[in-house]
Amino acid sequence: MLNENVKSMLRAAASSKAAITVLTGAGISAESGIPTFRGPEGYWTVGSRNYQPEEMGTVAMFRKAAREVWKWYIYRRSVCRRADPNQGHHALAAMEQLLGDRFMLISQNVDGLHSRAGNTSRHSFLIHGNLDLMRCAAGCCDELFPMPEGLPALERNDDLNRDQWELLQCPRCFGLTRPHVLWFDEYYDERWYRYDSSLVVARKTDVLIVVGTSGATSLPHQIVMTVLDRGAVLVDVNIERDIFAAMAEESGKGFFIRGSSSEILPQILAELERGIE
Ligand code: NAD
Repeated sequence: MLNENVKSMLRAAASSKAAITVLTGAGISAESGIPTFRGPEGYWTVGSRNYQPEEMGTVAMFRKAAREVWKWYIYRRSVCRRADPNQGHHALAAMEQLLGDRFMLISQNVDGLHSRAGNTSRHSFLIHGNLDLMRCAAGCCDELFPMPEGLPALERNDDLNRDQWELLQCPRCFGLTRPHVLWFDEYYDERWYRYDSSLVVARKTDVLIVVGTSGATSLPHQIVMTVLDRGAVLVDVNIERDIFAAMAEESGKGFFIRGSSSEILPQILAELERGIE
């Protein structure tokens, strides 16, 4: 439940035309059945060894075992495609409708659920990429390609046959493609991941709502620090205390809201609607 201080801050922000940014992580999709990286569901077995996401999602692994990396991403994408957006995603789509250009969504998620709920590319930055897209692994062109229709859904450690593997060729140079995701041994950039644009948004944000992220990556931290430096309000929504909870509370005007995103985000939306009425 939101306390009265949070409610009145949200109503005031809505009525004063404040810019509201929402930063999401894997936690918002957990209730849709998509595992976060902390659970054992993220493991992938190659030979007799289990690899962690931090090992699978790397250029180094892709150079060593591109097929295994692709199989892991196609498996993860299969899980995402079976999942549906939950009340948290739907509340953010409604928030975009309500606030228009005062709203921005910055997501670390690659699962496609925000856009399936109705958030638009005009008001969303996917700072870790999108599992529904691939690009040339050698960088022969600047294009993003949709994942080929003929690819099967894979279960854990299923293989791809030769025809399916060939679907993963770059349509331009016929070399290998790669998933359009930011790997753990790569850096953020503007071209693929909207790094600069995200920081520009942070510099204009009056209220930042952080949802379901453990804060393990650097751009979310920079966004939060930028927002706090300008004296804006930080609201952190998580089922457990995370690094942003303390930052919100220590800032003097932020809030940590303990609860699941599917319960809390509709309540936040309701207060914003009240503020605009
Ligand atoms: P994370 O797995 O490190 O942390 C998830 C956070 O969500 C935790 O703090 C947890 O307490 C919280 N959480 C879990 N269930 C919640 C709920 N119902 N409501 C609110 N909070 C909840 O995730 P991360 O911080 O996003 O970083 C992991 C990286 O993994 C990112 O790079 C992300 O791109 C990637 N990833 C994405 C997906 C996805 O697209 N759905 C899934 C797994 C990992």
